[in-house]
Amino acid sequence: MATMISIVSSENLGSSWIDEYASVMRLLSPLICFIDSDYFPRGIEATRAMPETMEWSRAIPFIILHLGCLGVLWVGWSPVAVAVCASLYVIRMFFITGIYHRYFCHKAYKANRTVQFLFALLGLLCVQRGALWWAAVHRHHHAHSDEEVDVHSPRQKGFLWAHIGWMTSSRNFPTDYKLIPDLAKYPELVFLNRFDLIGPLLMAIMTYGLGAILHASDPGLHTSGPQMLIWGGFISTVLLFHGTCCINSMAHVWGKPRFDTGDDSKNSFLLAIITLGEGWHNNHHRYQSSARQGFYWWEIDPTYYVLRFLASVGIITGLKRVPESAYREEGRLGHGG
Ligand SMILES: [Zn+2]
Ligand SMILES: [Zn+2]
Repeated sequence: MATMISIVSSENLGSSWIDEYASVMRLLSPLICFIDSDYFPRGIEATRAMPETMEWSRAIPFIILHLGCLGVLWVGWSPVAVAVCASLYVIRMFFITGIYHRYFCHKAYKANRTVQFLFALLGLLCVQRGALWWAAVHRHHHAHSDEEVDVHSPRQKGFLWAHIGWMTSSRNFPTDYKLIPDLAKYPELVFLNRFDLIGPLLMAIMTYGLGAILHASDPGLHTSGPQMLIWGGFISTVLLFHGTCCINSMAHVWGKPRFDTGDDSKNSFLLAIITLGEGWHNNHHRYQSSARQGFYWWEIDPTYYVLRFLASVGIITGLKRVPESAYREEGRLGHGG
């Protein structure tokens, strides 16, 4: 009898601990999700099976990012803060185009493991999540461009969904590691991808710190930590975000196609300016692994010019060229775009 009582009470004790643990985990779950991008309380497959709709909980980071720009009403502006905002836009646009897109997605050149790690770390500063998630989503886009399963096709679900809506749906949040086995084999890249919160934290610390240092060393610049955080951290990142998203939305709507790619990708000079050369999106859809996306000298492609410089000093190697067949093919098609 005594043994039975002790078994029952230890079972009760055990189940109460499990209940307590489960309730603590339920409470902490949103926080863990926020910190760890690979943590899905309902499981990855169940998350991927969720309906493709906009979710306010997933939209909160984007809303905070945009509302943060209103801080300019309190901190004002200074020439140095605006210059830092513009510089961070251009530099980080290269991180997206030259590193996330042309390296991690398409392997348009080679980099050794150390450079690859530094590239992934620099990419986090763009606040567009980790290189592996970015590459997996983008490879899926190329495999199914403007088909029903394409997560950001203006043809399928409209312009606004292609621009930003798709990112607020939980089903598009997990990283599909199956699409990126060549990258997922590096634990250091998986770590950065998993804890992508490192990027916005570093950006906030660096921009605030820069403003505070400039304020202390030269008050005549009329800047401060909070002012630099708003201009360099928030405004620059929002501009970078929409500039990048234009390729998912506008580059499949606006411009002219040169090649018959079977999707809606277009070439656009204006988008090439905004995105340092990614506006030649139809060229890119046809020849995805080419490091150069502007196929002629007048198709301005600043990302490629920087990549050529990095190759000339030995930081990267093996830049993939535009194949000769591209020019012959254009002649046959006669699009002229
Ligand atoms: Zn595309
Ligand atoms: Zn691509």
